[in-house]
Amino acid sequence: MPTETFEFQVEARQLLQLMIHSVYSNKDVFLRELVSNASDALDKLRLAALRDDGLDVDTSDLHIEIETDPEARTLTVRDNGIGMSYEEVGQLIGTIAHSGTAQFLKELQEAKDAAGAEGLIGQFGVGFYSGFMVADEMTLLTRRAGEDRGTRWSSRGEGTYTLETVDDAPQGTSVTLHLKPADPENQLHDYTSPWKVREIVKRYSDFITWPVRMTPEKGEGEETSEPETLNSMKALWARSRDEVSDEEYHELYKHVGHDWRPPLETVRLQAEGTFEYQALLFLPEHAPHDLFTQGYRRGLQLYVKRVLIMDDCEALLPPYLRFVKGVVDAQDLSLNVSREILQQDRHIRMIQRRLTKKVLSTVKDLKAKDAERYATFWREFGAVVKEGLLSDTENRDAILAVATFASTHAEDEPTTLQQYVERMGDGQDDIYYMTGESRESIENSPHMEAFRAKGVEVLLLTDPVDEVWVDAVGEFEGKRLRSVAKGEVDLDAQGDEAAGEEREKQGEEFAGLLGWMKEQLGDEVKDVRLSSRLTVSPACVVSDAHDLTPALESMYRAMGQ
Ligand code: ADP
Ligand code: MG
Repeated sequence: MPTETFEFQVEARQLLQLMIHSVYSNKDVFLRELVSNASDALDKLRLAALRDDGLDVDTSDLHIEIETDPEARTLTVRDNGIGMSYEEVGQLIGTIAHSGTAQFLKELQEAKDAAGAEGLIGQFGVGFYSGFMVADEMTLLTRRAGEDRGTRWSSRGEGTYTLETVDDAPQGTSVTLHLKPADPENQLHDYTSPWKVREIVKRYSDFITWPVRMTPEKGEGEETSEPETLNSMKALWARSRDEVSDEEYHELYKHVGHDWRPPLETVRLQAEGTFEYQALLFLPEHAPHDLFTQGYRRGLQLYVKRVLIMDDCEALLPPYLRFVKGVVDAQDLSLNVSREILQQDRHIRMIQRRLTKKVLSTVKDLKAKDAERYATFWREFGAVVKEGLLSDTENRDAILAVATFASTHAEDEPTTLQQYVERMGDGQDDIYYMTGESRESIENSPHMEAFRAKGVEVLLLTDPVDEVWVDAVGEFEGKRLRSVAKGEVDLDAQGDEAAGEEREKQGEEFAGLLGWMKEQLGDEVKDVRLSSRLTVSPACVVSDAHDLTPALESMYRAMGQ
């Protein structure tokens, strides 16, 4: 097949332009990206070989190799992993598929100036293309495990790339960067220097579970040059806390979490006894944009004795903790387990229960010790965690202990149910809330008038899930959760007997008017009543206690029901 030329997708082109012209100072991260891809490819081959006996591949020496050539000014990262087919190269390398990059581009468009855009590169990393920060040409030679022929991809990053079929390619992938001319002013950025490569790998990729090797140039007078393994390959989760720096944890998080910012919190867990496992979990600082979509890939990496056997293992955490990233390494699981079997597995369920409690207690500690970081966490993930109030009755109290809600008590200080109850006045028996789209729309609702006038605190619930959990939970410490927009809410009755009689008398007086109004409104309403809930507005619409709340009603209506 002849060499074919293709154009990059529009998004890819945008990204490449940015890489080529980047003045981003920390260009070293390109090597982290290439090593990370190589490591993923080795993981995939290992898994494929486990699952498919028919796959004829040699997995006895899986590794990554880095080679530099100062004369030719090239740097090559080679792996003997899964490799890519011709079609895959076109799909995976020619387009921008992964969600991290989509998010990156979105933020890039919102970035106001060049400096803002540059900062984003540091946060996101952006994968394979980051090579163009340091190279003016990249070539990739790859052969997919089990296939006969290989593929060569090549690009100068300027709008097009070429693809060509090759007969004799080793299995796996090698990526060669043709480095930009050396900057005589800045020797520190010479990526053909073994010293530099060693430093970068050590800094960013030490935990990679496959050996990253480098064979130094044969120096004068030296007979041979032995390949040197640059990374320690030590699994961070198996090392003791004081042996591992925060930076090392953060690099692992970036690798497993596909996030390019440090995590908000790192959670370690070592379970000993009959069923041993270690877990290293991360709470991200930012909710991914697709967290509430079907396509969101949740789950942790599952290792068995240091061997990755499953990515995105959903069974390890409940759906309401789907934002948690990390690794679980178990001692006694079969390497060959399927997802279906895992869902049923008693040990996996045990791990899930334990991890769930651990995550919730971590949030509780965060809340007690670091109000600001807790606030970030709850802002980003509170709406997801509250789903657990419905699905996880066992941990309901633990979730309620860390849940905070906007309230009329204070403008910018959310409250727990506990704190609400502590503030309740003498005559108040119930916890009042109102649901709605925003704090503002709720506060402007006529339902709020009497509560405001009487100084009764109301929780302001604005997440869609709030509609549902308040009913499921029903009460807290014996106090009913009551919507201010539903049924008869008689604040007067709380103190004053005479008020009731007064109302009755007024009712008789206004019977004619109410009857007339009811006739006029017809089927639009169930009833027309006098109310003590308003102080300023002349009238408002109220649901029966068992009717849908206005927000749910409009939600269902929007869904066409
Ligand atoms: P990401 O790693 O986040 O998916 P990248 O831009 O780094 O994004 O890589 C894009 C895709 O190209 C990868 O998901 C992978 O499928 C493929 N790829 C990149 N490098 C390799 C490699 N060394 N071996 C096999 N596939 C690779
Ligand atoms: Mg990558």
